[in-house]
Amino acid sequence: MELDAGSEVKKMEEAGKGKSQTLICAPLMADSVDQMLNLMQKAKESGADLVELRLDSLKSFNPRHDISTMIEHCSLPTLFTYRPTWEGGQYDGDEKSRLDALHLAMELGADYIDIELKVVHEFNSLLHGNKPAKCKIIVSSHNYHNTPSVEELSDLVARIQESGADIVKIATYALDITDVARIFKITLHSQLPIISMAMGEKGLISRILSPKFGSYLAFGTLETGRESAPGQPTIQDLLYLYNFRHIGPDTKVFGIIGKPVGHSKSPILYNKAFRSIGFNGVYIPLLVDDVANFLQTYSSSDFAGFSCTIPHKEAALANCDEVDPIAKSIGAVNCIIRKPADGKLFGCNTDYVGAISAIEDGLRGLPHNPVDGPLAGKIFVVIGAGGAGKALAYGAKEKGAKVVVANRTYERARELADIVGGQALSLAELSTFHPENGMILANTTSIGMQPKIDETPAPKEALSCYSLVFDAVYTPKITRLLREAEECGAEIVTGVEMFIGQAYEQYERFTGLPAPKELFKSIMSKY
Ligand code: NAP
Repeated sequence: MELDAGSEVKKMEEAGKGKSQTLICAPLMADSVDQMLNLMQKAKESGADLVELRLDSLKSFNPRHDISTMIEHCSLPTLFTYRPTWEGGQYDGDEKSRLDALHLAMELGADYIDIELKVVHEFNSLLHGNKPAKCKIIVSSHNYHNTPSVEELSDLVARIQESGADIVKIATYALDITDVARIFKITLHSQLPIISMAMGEKGLISRILSPKFGSYLAFGTLETGRESAPGQPTIQDLLYLYNFRHIGPDTKVFGIIGKPVGHSKSPILYNKAFRSIGFNGVYIPLLVDDVANFLQTYSSSDFAGFSCTIPHKEAALANCDEVDPIAKSIGAVNCIIRKPADGKLFGCNTDYVGAISAIEDGLRGLPHNPVDGPLAGKIFVVIGAGGAGKALAYGAKEKGAKVVVANRTYERARELADIVGGQALSLAELSTFHPENGMILANTTSIGMQPKIDETPAPKEALSCYSLVFDAVYTPKITRLLREAEECGAEIVTGVEMFIGQAYEQYERFTGLPAPKELFKSIMSKY
């Protein structure tokens, strides 16, 4: 692919520079005021812009003395919240003392106080119209069960606006990732500054993308386990994994669709690469239950491309407007691009490109026909007939190899072998299969993957007739199969190389720019 990075990158650098207007707020929960002071210091060091002091987490405190101590000692702006149990907090004392403490915080110099919509009128009556100019009142509503309709949310926003709030806060719960779209919508249309989020694992994107859709702040914890509400990311992840400060309204969103998806290394890889060239994009984990529903909901050009992983590769194919013929034959799409011209979704499969190019690179040092390529005419044994097995079998066939498929379920081996015009074996037959030397072996099953690292799909005795052995498993990087193949004198190619290879291809399709290959390798060498 001919790609000219130069001027494009410069434009993107301009577009992506220091974008985020959204603040990062560290919610601080502590038993004692001393611990709270300590956490304030940590919040400053971690890069937070302000701290939320959760008074309801303190075992006891003297309002006048301790609130002024906390304000005096805090080098960041302060937000005081005293959340009652009826709104998901820990305070179960009388309302008057609670509202008085928040009123006092305002008078003592708090920058923000949070007051629940349900009691805002009682709180307003305490003020008698006198509100310190410095302090902004956040009027909040929390729903820990679901995310209502856009109409219901808009009505809620309107009621908060009418209550005299300086800032609206709406927190709902995401039962599905598509619920978050409603939060984005009301955020974009709010007339007052708004803090908005969908809580829970499936709401994570509402927090990461808050600078894109205009939330006033996002909550980020000091460390995992210190969340004050479900689904909060760490400040570290917001800043360094997702490049939060560089996300703005025009930032393109990419991500990996999967279930589960939290373990994926792709966000680290792509976001570091985007940063390295100032590309105005962010790559996020997308915990998706229903691919069709997800793609229909996030159909704007803002959502520019997706990687797909287990168990959604087949469903992704079914939901693309156009599919690359090889991906169609493989029956799986692992990369979806939204075409800028017409918004149509184009699906392709970069797994096979990644694996085959890594294997070809591994074979270049060995004797081969320089005209037809290193795989032409070679016997290529694929163990497994699932998604990765199909990708490897098709890729090898495309390159002129003679494909043999060995699988636990023989019928599936037979089916795939018939499609690629090859031979089928049972797994047991693999031990005695050595029609010639110099063959290629590719494991595409999960055998040997952590934690069962002592397992191997092929006995060591069978490996001496292979010149190259590849393993799609990449945790651990060197599997038992690869270790034994090396001991038998074969070249080895790891699943990490396939992972990097498929990512190069996707990166180039996402950005239209050449992938920073050395950076990818250096990032993946740490895992
Ligand atoms: P899949 O579609 O579920 O296919 C799994 C295949 O493995 C099937 O052929 C299955 O045989 C076989 N298998 C599973 N457990 C087995 C066992 N205990 N003994 C014998 N055979 C077994 O999965 P996939 O998407 O192809 O992924 C397979 C592996 O490739 C995974 O480890 C995945 O992490 C890895 N992968 C790596 C990359 C990369 O970038 N490195 C990319 C994609 C996939 P049956 O037909 O008998 O069920």
